[in-house]
Amino acid sequence: MSDGAGMTAVDVLIVGAGFAGIGMGIQLARRGRESFVIIEQAEDVGGTWRDNRYPGVSCDIPSHLYSFSFRPNPHWSRVFAEGREIHAYLRACVAEEGLEDHLRLNCALSEAQWSDDDARWLVRTTRGDFSAASLVIATGRLSEPKIPLIKNLDRFGGRWWHSARWNAKVSLVGKRVGLIGTGASAIQILPRLAAEASEVVVFQRSAPYVLPRGDREYSREEMERFAADPGTVTALRDELFAEAERGLGARQRRHPDIDLLRQRALDHLTASVPDPGLRARLTPDYEIGCKRILFSDDYYAALQRGHVRLEPTPLARIADGSGNVGASGSRTAIAAGGSSHELDVLVLATGFNSTRPSIAGHIRGRRSRLLGEEWSNGMAAHASTTVHGFPNMYVLDGPNAALGHNSAIYMIETQVGYVLSALDHLATSGADALDVTAEAVHSYMRDIDTMARDTVWVQGGCTSWYRDERTGRVTLLWPDSATSFRDRLATFTGVSYEHLHQRRHG
Ligand code: NAP
Repeated sequence: MSDGAGMTAVDVLIVGAGFAGIGMGIQLARRGRESFVIIEQAEDVGGTWRDNRYPGVSCDIPSHLYSFSFRPNPHWSRVFAEGREIHAYLRACVAEEGLEDHLRLNCALSEAQWSDDDARWLVRTTRGDFSAASLVIATGRLSEPKIPLIKNLDRFGGRWWHSARWNAKVSLVGKRVGLIGTGASAIQILPRLAAEASEVVVFQRSAPYVLPRGDREYSREEMERFAADPGTVTALRDELFAEAERGLGARQRRHPDIDLLRQRALDHLTASVPDPGLRARLTPDYEIGCKRILFSDDYYAALQRGHVRLEPTPLARIADGSGNVGASGSRTAIAAGGSSHELDVLVLATGFNSTRPSIAGHIRGRRSRLLGEEWSNGMAAHASTTVHGFPNMYVLDGPNAALGHNSAIYMIETQVGYVLSALDHLATSGADALDVTAEAVHSYMRDIDTMARDTVWVQGGCTSWYRDERTGRVTLLWPDSATSFRDRLATFTGVSYEHLHQRRHG
């Protein structure tokens, strides 16, 4: 694979070994397209399931749906598997699909530069240079921790960390802990945190809608049946998928769908929280579905434990020089509402930087244009996958490819199928590269705006990571059904693409 100048030449270079990168690699390998590498900056595969090791981490999409359709797993131990079981599944995918030889771990992309002359990508990494005909960006959208502006956080005298960078070396037993945020991560963390800490303060900026989760272990008989008859796994998956798809009606603000869903969540709140004052503070002030709906059977119970308090305003600052500051810093956390809390540990379950992926600052397309510049007004791509001026580059799990109501893995598989079709098209077209036209991107984004316009994600009166904070446009989410995404990407035609030829021959 080396060209003799220390440069490794491959057909496809995949950046990131999470669900998307692994899925792409499996499909290339299964088709006998062996000329590819997957570079991964960490020392292990698994993406979000490698990074998120907080107590209680698990998936809120049922595992038989949140797994590759082409690698069903009859052995899922429960309806909603824990993080480490999903991580083990991904590692097994890598080992059993023969991806290990293609993996370059501890290998971070430094810069990728497109060359019109060669019709190839030059990719510099921390472990050498690559030349690739095609580049697949699979770095995820929930991989860069977001640390909110909390004044004097650097002067906090205790320890603090982000939920996706869990510090397992610090025991929380007997500690006073502040949990910042009430999103999908926080509500999984709180019950475990409350079991160890002596005091917990939950800083809530917005109350979430919570539905019962209904998790349970699969019995041995069920697992044996799944293993003996793969058809039962497929049937279960189909059922789970159809059930999730039915959730779209509420997101499109259809009646009575949205009313029934809202009522279910409010009934769950009423049944779980008898105190009207606390219930009022836990009642969202925006429409259901605008932010991701959360699923939990133990969040409300944990909030009502004697040593747990809900602070209904965000953490604003750490006290400076108020008398609580020793040589080691202050332990007084002050909420926006003015109340102060003495704390030993802060856990920031404050989400991820998803609208401005940092990798976009390292990729240069035609005329050396930076992807970050191309996306300076928000991410945009044709078919949620290709970007004008960045030939033979495919972004998985990037713009408009997330779902608020169904499985991300289905979306990834759809995009992988699209990339494979593009590679097949390129191979038979006689061209060396495909560059999507600017008009195709604009037209696709116009369709996204139209689809999103009346949905709860735009009209629901909340802020969320689904939308770009600069423009308010829905740039992360596919604002329609999962099925319609697959239909839309099912046929790859070259018409939206300029066909390029390398200028330098030989
Ligand atoms: P998130 O949904 O973005 O939630 C971040 C939370 O931090 C929000 O409640 C936010 O409040 C709050 N926050 C930010 N700054 C704050 C401050 N200064 N004080 C108080 N609160 C503050 O992040 P996440 O919970 O990590 O989840 C991100 C995504 O990851 C989810 O939407 C989901 O797609 C995925 N996820 C999935 C699972 C799963 O089981 N499948 C589990 C975890 C995460 P606002 O709401 O007001 O912004």
